[in-house]
Amino acid sequence: MAVKLSKRVNCVGDSATIRLNDVANRLRLDGKDVINLGVGEPDFDTPLFIREAAKRAIGDGDTHYAPSLGKQRLREDIADKLREDNRIDASPKNIIVSAGAKHIIFMAINALLDGEEEAMLFCPAWVSYEACIKLAGGRVNWVKTKEEDAFQPSDLQDKINKKTKLLVVNSPNNPTGSVYKKDTLKMIRDLAIDRDLYVISDEIYEKIIYEADHISLASFDGMAERTITVNGFSKSYAMTGWRLGYACAPKEIIGGMLKIQQHSVTCAASFSQEAAIKAMEGPQDNLKRMVEEFKRRRDILIEGLNSIGIRCVRPAGAFYTFVDVSKFGGDSNAFCEKMLREGYVVMIPGYAFGPGWEKYVRISYAAPLEKIEEALLRMEKIFALGKQK
Ligand code: PMP
Ligand code: GLU
Repeated sequence: MAVKLSKRVNCVGDSATIRLNDVANRLRLDGKDVINLGVGEPDFDTPLFIREAAKRAIGDGDTHYAPSLGKQRLREDIADKLREDNRIDASPKNIIVSAGAKHIIFMAINALLDGEEEAMLFCPAWVSYEACIKLAGGRVNWVKTKEEDAFQPSDLQDKINKKTKLLVVNSPNNPTGSVYKKDTLKMIRDLAIDRDLYVISDEIYEKIIYEADHISLASFDGMAERTITVNGFSKSYAMTGWRLGYACAPKEIIGGMLKIQQHSVTCAASFSQEAAIKAMEGPQDNLKRMVEEFKRRRDILIEGLNSIGIRCVRPAGAFYTFVDVSKFGGDSNAFCEKMLREGYVVMIPGYAFGPGWEKYVRISYAAPLEKIEEALLRMEKIFALGKQK
């Protein structure tokens, strides 16, 4: 029988980040010396005290459904954190915890968008926003940023139309590593209020920041009532596999998301939430060390790229750099294919981050330093690049 999938599923592609991560894992299992600069996943272990907390919870039989909104103590910890770190006037009733920030974003978009309504995406944009919008039946209004502006959005007024309901903001940004300046955020705030828009502010990289300050959009006057602040444990605590993310939003939006949660994943894993409580309440020095190490790698990667003639802006946050590889001929798909086939180095081609980025490649430096250095050597060899003085 010919399988007929829904139109909604047929209108989205797969996730390039997840697909290429699977390719990397398969090649590794085949014994290949793979360097994965593709997926954005901290290569550090989850701190031991966090893992121990989960083991204890499992030992104590904490293996049943948790409350669908998330455990009360975790939601209290999150509300405290948002008040202290982010100056967001949050209380537990504004918080929902779910299986990863990705599912949080999926639920928020589904709770807000109707068919034909639009969400604005500043592109390049992380791979899953577009798919979440389309799976909700909505449309994407792409707004391109420029490398010469350090990928900060501008001139948005004219691009809003009657159907625009939502802005998706992501700072520090995936894939560019750009951190939005206060003026950029103020401009977004003014626009959202003036045109009565909702904002998803994905702040999952807020702690992975080097030369800038993180500002939460919901901390600006008038923004808490229209902003869904998204965050999670994957990046700050190296907890990707635990699948834990959260949102802070007006309670009506949380209520809408809760219905989707009840009918989809039910709740985030109970013992993962115990680990998250320890992560938030325990020492934070692992995070500091991780960020220092990311910064060291970033500098070496950027210098290495520059020395072989690949120019790029120095990203102020996250653990990605987004670089123009057009001088190597062909588009970034061909570039990534060659790096993978001849060098076993995985990178993500720019087309995955929205229209108009075919010449760019995202390189993740969430990989050990010696792997980054080795990847640069392989790149130099494959493309016969000379060191530039
Ligand atoms: N937002 C951004 C910008 C990301 O890079 C990621 C990483 N996958 C996520 C959300 C989702 O993270 P997770 O589902 O692992 O919490
Ligand atoms: N955020 C990471 C990335 O962009 C993880 C993979 C994903 O969820 O897309 O590579």
